[in-house]
Amino acid sequence: MSHTIDSIRKGLHEKQFSAEELARETLAFAEAENPKTNAYLTFAPERAIAQARRVDETLARSEDPGPLAGVPIAVKDVILTRGLRTTCASRLLANYIAPYDATAVIRVEQAGGVIIGKTNCDEFAMGSSTENSAFGPVRNPAALDRVPGGSSGGSAAAVAQGTAVLALGSDTGGSVRQPASFCGVTGVTPTYGRVSRYGLTAFASSLDHIGPFSRSVRDSAVLLRTIAGRDEKDSTSAFAPVPDYAAALNGDVRGMKIGLPKEFFEGLASETGDLIMAAVGELQKLGCEVREIKLPHTPYAIACYYVIATAEASSNLARYDGVRYTARASSASTLAEMYRVTRDEGFGPECKRRIMLGTYVLSAGYYDAYYLKAQKVRALVARDYAEAFEQVDAIVGPVSPFPAFRLGEKVNDPVAMYLSDIYTITGDLAGIPCMSVPCGKTPEGLPVGLQILTRHFNEMDMFRLADAYQRATSL
Ligand code: GLN
Repeated sequence: MSHTIDSIRKGLHEKQFSAEELARETLAFAEAENPKTNAYLTFAPERAIAQARRVDETLARSEDPGPLAGVPIAVKDVILTRGLRTTCASRLLANYIAPYDATAVIRVEQAGGVIIGKTNCDEFAMGSSTENSAFGPVRNPAALDRVPGGSSGGSAAAVAQGTAVLALGSDTGGSVRQPASFCGVTGVTPTYGRVSRYGLTAFASSLDHIGPFSRSVRDSAVLLRTIAGRDEKDSTSAFAPVPDYAAALNGDVRGMKIGLPKEFFEGLASETGDLIMAAVGELQKLGCEVREIKLPHTPYAIACYYVIATAEASSNLARYDGVRYTARASSASTLAEMYRVTRDEGFGPECKRRIMLGTYVLSAGYYDAYYLKAQKVRALVARDYAEAFEQVDAIVGPVSPFPAFRLGEKVNDPVAMYLSDIYTITGDLAGIPCMSVPCGKTPEGLPVGLQILTRHFNEMDMFRLADAYQRATSL
């Protein structure tokens, strides 16, 4: 299935198909394809059909069914969907039915979008390969022996496989851009605060974002506009007005100043580096001015991120204690034992590792040495970007040092896994918008993404550049 938002709108208006027919066809296709990749944990046929019928009824009354009318959307299983299982890919929440919808979900459905299912991910969004799911790993549709990236691997795989036209993911340190890059689709991390996190299960609250996946840049622009904007249920959501990104995509980026951070090209696999430099050449042909810039604190970013993210995670995950939300250990005879056994049986190894690390860096004796120090480094990383954006309009570089790796290759070596996030986490630490747009395949046929980063709340230039590149290359 190779639909876009526009092709669906056209098909509905010309009565080539109804929204209900499209939803049924998509669900059947997604269910048939799922054994190959394990991208979905739950399908939502009743919800999808009911929503599609609403779209058809609205159309029959000649009313506007909204910008996402009839568009099949997959939602990462850390985002709450009322009445539907929301597992966070954790054994702890295997049977958890969410009592309310996330704001992003409500906005998608108000715009006519059809949610067809919930996608697999790393447990509580912690990982870079989707191998940390309690319900089995996801396989990369481009190479089934490889990981799809993580943690939003199921959402990226669903869009790449064509079992959904759009998907929602979450990004704390790269979990939208890196799987988008590995699977050959577009993935967007908006400015911190651009999209409400109400109903997004918290991992590291000062870094968490909800972001879109799609095949085309234009479709991500439409989806972001739909979900973005102030939400009174999330006090960290921004009041900044949300422009009509898609309306401004005209392919003209002449004169745009692009920075290439030299730190993003150290330790880069040559097969990835060649594709990135070819993409930079394309941007020059489109009339962009390219210059080298410096982001000198990049080498400290991994350590900084894994202190801050684990600290916040250790606090956020404290709520899963067997009293609320989760299955409760039945064997325990005291309250403390009930907490301990529930958490011991429920959390997978990566979550436990992070809870221990995070608790350690926050503990009285080590707070100043680790957590406070990491916060200072974070400010320096953000300052690097602020200084770079005094010289350039956008920054481009790789998303990941290498393309999709094999299942099992890094899962037993957490440090190697963490190091793979080097080019994505700085954008999250700074809170700026960033995205991955496909820029070709390695000789082995593995997709590679080009990362584009812009100033706070300037998603517009990011989309304009990505769209112009996508039109020029058709990649
Ligand atoms: N790979 C990073 C981590 O494991 C990022 C995860 C994310 O963005 N949710 O923390």
